[in-house]
Amino acid sequence: MKALVLEKVRQLTLRDIHIEEYLGPDDVRIKIHTVGICGSDVHYYEHGAIGPFVVREPMVLGHEASGTVIEVGEGVKHLKVGDRVCMEPGIPNPNSRPTRLGMYNLDPAVRFWATPPVHGCLRETVVHPGMFVFKLPENVGFDEGALVEPLAVGLHAARKAQIKPGDLALVIGAGMIGLVTAMAAIAGGCGKVIITDIVQEKLDLASYFGMMSVNVTREDLNEIVSKVTNGWGTDIVFEASGSEDAVLKVFEPLCPGGRVVFIGMPTHPVPMDIVSAQVKEARIETIFRYAHVYPRALLLMESGRVNLKPLITDRYRFEESIEAFEYAANPRPSSVKIVIEL
Ligand code: ZN
Repeated sequence: MKALVLEKVRQLTLRDIHIEEYLGPDDVRIKIHTVGICGSDVHYYEHGAIGPFVVREPMVLGHEASGTVIEVGEGVKHLKVGDRVCMEPGIPNPNSRPTRLGMYNLDPAVRFWATPPVHGCLRETVVHPGMFVFKLPENVGFDEGALVEPLAVGLHAARKAQIKPGDLALVIGAGMIGLVTAMAAIAGGCGKVIITDIVQEKLDLASYFGMMSVNVTREDLNEIVSKVTNGWGTDIVFEASGSEDAVLKVFEPLCPGGRVVFIGMPTHPVPMDIVSAQVKEARIETIFRYAHVYPRALLLMESGRVNLKPLITDRYRFEESIEAFEYAANPRPSSVKIVIEL
């Protein structure tokens, strides 16, 4: 089948590749329709590695996908041929200890699309366990279906924050993950969300969603938070930038007893101000991908309470995949999510 293959750093080819895929009784075969380009795909393309994961063999990129079921294993009861679906890209070992404890995202043996040495989904078809395949609601298109994956990250963060009705949240970073986190926070009951970035175009999109945007290159975040909260601080801070400076100052806008959720992954170890957390008895949470949130994401999209459509800023055809990645490595400031349609 045709696939977008990362041969080595900065070298992509769109070529035929043979991937042996046996359809087990609990699997479905899916014809891929749309794939979103994620920051991690671009990182592998530009650097060939993320932390301990190093691309040593040619690897198919892509992990945010939607498609149509074309074959169903005999044990799969919730799907049929022709169903429009989206997929969780990580397949854990069902018998591992983290999986049995409900934390399958933390299974060290998880096989995650486009994380070496596992091939991704920028190819014509995939075989996937039915358990990780979800039917799209009628009013959710293939393009939004491909974005359920990043939305799942935001929803997982919102759950970790244990939002209470009317909470005021601050989201640091208005890239794709910051925006979906803010949307998840609003859907989860936050009364107000303040979101920051250094790129005005991203903040303009945030304002469109009703978030209060702060451009930290020219505005004083702590001053604004203090004004909005009468000096109290925000109930929650979602750190979605991964920036060293943001991590160091993350407890400053927080209210006493507030929660901080670390979502962004700094590219290297960064310092944190523990005392400023202690004097507020801040509760610190972290997330790694997500678990058990796809059905929640789809319900929120079906009800219209989360609308991902405005986040899709750039579209490419499969034949233009290499061009899409070249663009993704150096996008316009207004670009949020680039999708490839097969
Ligand atoms: Zn992703």
